[in-house]
Amino acid sequence: MVTRNQYLESLIQWGDDVKNLLHQQSISNPVGNHSINDINNWQQNIRSILEQGTDSLEDTDIQQLQSEGEQILFDIYQMGNERQATGSIPYGKHRLPPLPYAYNALEPYISEEIMRLHHDEHHKSYVDGLNKAEVALYKDRNKDPIKHWLREQAFHGSGHYLHTIFWENMTPNSTKKPSGELLLKIEQDFGSWNKFKKLFSDVAESVEGVGWAILLWQPRSGKLGIQSFEKHQLFQIADSIPLLVLDMWEHAYYLQYKTDKKAYIDNWWNVVNWENVNERYQNASKLTWQAY
Ligand code: MN
Repeated sequence: MVTRNQYLESLIQWGDDVKNLLHQQSISNPVGNHSINDINNWQQNIRSILEQGTDSLEDTDIQQLQSEGEQILFDIYQMGNERQATGSIPYGKHRLPPLPYAYNALEPYISEEIMRLHHDEHHKSYVDGLNKAEVALYKDRNKDPIKHWLREQAFHGSGHYLHTIFWENMTPNSTKKPSGELLLKIEQDFGSWNKFKKLFSDVAESVEGVGWAILLWQPRSGKLGIQSFEKHQLFQIADSIPLLVLDMWEHAYYLQYKTDKKAYIDNWWNVVNWENVNERYQNASKLTWQAY
């Protein structure tokens, strides 16, 4: 028969074992340190109970200590999941991806000087700007006004993601023409390789100073498309698939709510189809790129 004191001693021992495990795995991130602090506080609480004597202790007090320990373990388990999940970038922690080839590898078509400036300076500034916007939006919401940071997130986020695609879209060993399924699809959708190349070039030429020409996969139509983006964004995040959307055009609420946008939004939360959102997430998340 295990006495209450022995059981409480065993809980303290378990806490030491978990702390040793955390140290062995050199979990030195804030969450790991946070868990160790939680264990220390929890153990301290048990020690002071032991000092005061366990005679007046209720079963519910013991259950409370147990469930606190389980919660700490659950937090550690969650942390382990996050660490193992590749491709998840904490808000504000994007990094400049390295070029997948040397700075001079695309010469003579694109000079080393351009590549250095474009990658090291321009792309870097989008990464920095996105990180700053994400911190302001998701971590430190006192930095108003919100519209400023939404503009910053759209501009720098799209800039970062598009440049990341752009570098990977290029190689010094180009075959000069697609083959296989992509070529078939281009010929099917645009008529021929030459028609596609002409249209894409015309679209690129139409961009005035700031923007991109983009070949798109359109999951909704099953068609390839060509589009120019002004700047990088205009309040969209490129290379992203929407999961949950709320129409905030006046036509979506005015007849019922007049100017009371807040009531519309508050009420809308009652009609979100989370099964559908989850289904979209399940499908969209099958599409994964290298994360930076
Ligand atoms: Mn650029």
